Amino acid sequence: MGIKEILEKEEFTKDEIIRLLSAEGEDRIMLFRKASEVKEKYIGKRVWLRGLIEFSNICSKDCLYCGIRKGNRKLERYNLSDEEILAAAKFAFDNNYGSIALQSGELESKTVSDRIESLIHKIKELSDGRLGITLSVGEQEPEVYRRWYEAGAHRYLLRIEASNESLYRKIHPNNSMHDFRRRLDCLKSLQDIGYMTGTGVMIGLPFQTLDDLAGDLLFMQEFDIDMCGMGPYIEHADTPLIEYADKLIPAVKRFDLALKMIAIIRIMMKDINIVAATALQAIDPIGREKGVMAGANIIMPNITPGKYRDSYRLYENKPCTDDSEEDCRNCLEARISLVDHEIIYGDWGDSKHYERRRKGWSL
Ligand code: SAM
Repeated sequence: MGIKEILEKEEFTKDEIIRLLSAEGEDRIMLFRKASEVKEKYIGKRVWLRGLIEFSNICSKDCLYCGIRKGNRKLERYNLSDEEILAAAKFAFDNNYGSIALQSGELESKTVSDRIESLIHKIKELSDGRLGITLSVGEQEPEVYRRWYEAGAHRYLLRIEASNESLYRKIHPNNSMHDFRRRLDCLKSLQDIGYMTGTGVMIGLPFQTLDDLAGDLLFMQEFDIDMCGMGPYIEHADTPLIEYADKLIPAVKRFDLALKMIAIIRIMMKDINIVAATALQAIDPIGREKGVMAGANIIMPNITPGKYRDSYRLYENKPCTDDSEEDCRNCLEARISLVDHEIIYGDWGDSKHYERRRKGWSL
């Protein structure tokens, strides 16, 4: 079967996804064209914003790929004050962003869960309930997720990182703090509680195969996610995985694979929200825009106060660490209009898939 015939099918097998991930030349163009048609039909040429507040880089985990892992002693740690977080949220509200995303390293404690709950209440208060809130603060107990949901957060992003358990184990320390099963259980409880649930993976990791990536896409479909955030793996000198840097596929190939992953998941899950990850821009200066062209409909402009941005360095070459929030907004406007898309302001831009899933409707 050729790529054209595969693209006409309703469902893809793993082998077919691998074929799509390997597409070159005309076949590759056909894949992107199909994704763009699907996006235009189910989403429109539109992009919604989530003002990203990376409020702390303190982390209790030691993921082997991540620059803010606990074991990286070279990093200056920070934790924004409540006032700084609320000021960033107010900036998003005043600039009509529609939503914010609160992200940090992973910490589990009563102090952290109480603090986040109180921040959610305050953000809802300052925006008259109008600012949507996405959380991305890692693995927590179900009752903590529930409290945050009841306080008003309604979306949660928890990347599975790699859905193949044996690959997951290779990129994490082998201990109870980095337990694949727990991560899965967390995703499940987020979905059960009622969150719009997002997950994703890194693309181009050492040891990762096309078979793994195809499996990741099928995992997301099977899990029936509402949102997807995935991007290229980018090496970081102060992490253990740097040891395998010479075994990685070249960055431009990782980038291309990431675009194909976005395009394929758009075709497979037509009405989910897909983030054009910042890591795309670390490899290609117009990487996020290419992500939008490939099927993404969400962008997360960084609104973390400038002085902290450099310290949330997950990987090398992280872009825009010295832009002001204002610069970021102007720059984004121009970039999105260049790819003939419109930014929808003042709207949550919730995943249409979520409502359909909850009501049991088909497309
Ligand atoms: N710790 C929280 C969690 O896991 O949900 C959120 C913060 S974590 C730093 C955000 C994401 O950064 C991770 O899910 C991971 O996929 C991504 N990340 C970390 N290191 C990376 C790297 N070297 N290259 C690309 N992405 C990376």
